[in-house]
Amino acid sequence: MSDHIDPAKLDRLAEIAVRIGVNLQPGQDLVITAPTDAMELVRRITVHAYKAGAGAVVPFFSDDAMILARFENARDESFDYAPGWLYGAMAEAFKGGAARMAIKGDDPMLLAEQDPEKVARLGKATSIAAKPAMDPIVGFEVNWNIVAYPGAGWAKAVYPDLPVEEAQGKLMDAIYDASRLDGDDPVANWEAHTKTLKERVNWLNDQNFAALHYTGPGTDLHLGLADGHIWKGGASPALNGVVCQPNIPTEEVFTCPHAYKVDGTVAATKPLAHQGSVIEDIAVRFEAGRIVEATASKGEDVLKALLKTDDGASRIGEVALVPHSSPISQSGTLFYNTLFDENASCHIALGQCYADTITGGSELSPEELKQKGGNQSIIHVDWMMGSDAVDIDGITKTGERVPVMRGGEWA
Ligand code: ZN
Ligand code: ZN
Repeated sequence: MSDHIDPAKLDRLAEIAVRIGVNLQPGQDLVITAPTDAMELVRRITVHAYKAGAGAVVPFFSDDAMILARFENARDESFDYAPGWLYGAMAEAFKGGAARMAIKGDDPMLLAEQDPEKVARLGKATSIAAKPAMDPIVGFEVNWNIVAYPGAGWAKAVYPDLPVEEAQGKLMDAIYDASRLDGDDPVANWEAHTKTLKERVNWLNDQNFAALHYTGPGTDLHLGLADGHIWKGGASPALNGVVCQPNIPTEEVFTCPHAYKVDGTVAATKPLAHQGSVIEDIAVRFEAGRIVEATASKGEDVLKALLKTDDGASRIGEVALVPHSSPISQSGTLFYNTLFDENASCHIALGQCYADTITGGSELSPEELKQKGGNQSIIHVDWMMGSDAVDIDGITKTGERVPVMRGGEWA
């Protein structure tokens, strides 16, 4: 581990991820997915997990050098294959009551030099194979959490002018601040933060808008909301009854858009780091919920391949509001990591909706969800469309306009 990463900060991140993030219960197993780079964080999470009474803590690692080795040496058929048996085991664990922790810290440029077609094929094969393990997460059946580790490749992308070890130290500090871990009592920080998010959620649920209308540079979007949509944000109970905080950091309130009622144009306000490539200046046009035109100044082929993944990949399944004054946004840092960039900006997500953002959604079949406007896809990719130049109106069921955001801030 880089000498510049403050071990006390790393330990506090691990503790909060276990206690507030996943809120691991006594006797519960914990499944961790992580890059090998993040070993030190995995070990610290393991300590706090057993202190919290974990049954067994089980890691699944990925390794950047091994991923590159596949792209450089594997036979062509390998790019249409992912080991379903692995995800089957994870699905079994969740069925048996295990919680899930994902550690993100990947190099956003890892696959930038690789054939985009192979990247897309492997991404698709992996999404299909991983579905049994992702369904209980997307359906919020078990308590889960995503947290970040300042991996070398990622740190280098965020702070290209610094020596890599220093960049990792600086990124650790940024993760720490964004994750609201400073001060004497991070648990109290998180309780106060959740309360603020809940006030926004309650207001939006009371308004019960039919649609949102976004205007900004390159953006003029009418975004219908799903029938019976519910806004969510901050800590909430999974279906197993455990109250958890799925993302650390988190600044968003989010709900389910109507997959067939989105029209107009959107210009992304930040690059999108996706599967080892960076896509820049995304601009799209929606017609009846579907993206019918898409361009990007960089990575356009990656974007187009992504949109073609399946039927639902060119429709959206999540809409989220984040004020421009969020601490991550104010840091001015471009993280090239969705967990951070999505919490610095209003965003929408291509692909799968979260069933629990529709009333009674967890009880509905995919077909029933679809009828209410809930999108279905093997992908879920967030991209950023908020800035201090974007205004958002809520449109009520009777067609009146209510200001929701002005200049990127709550109105
Ligand atoms: Zn989101
Ligand atoms: Zn999302």
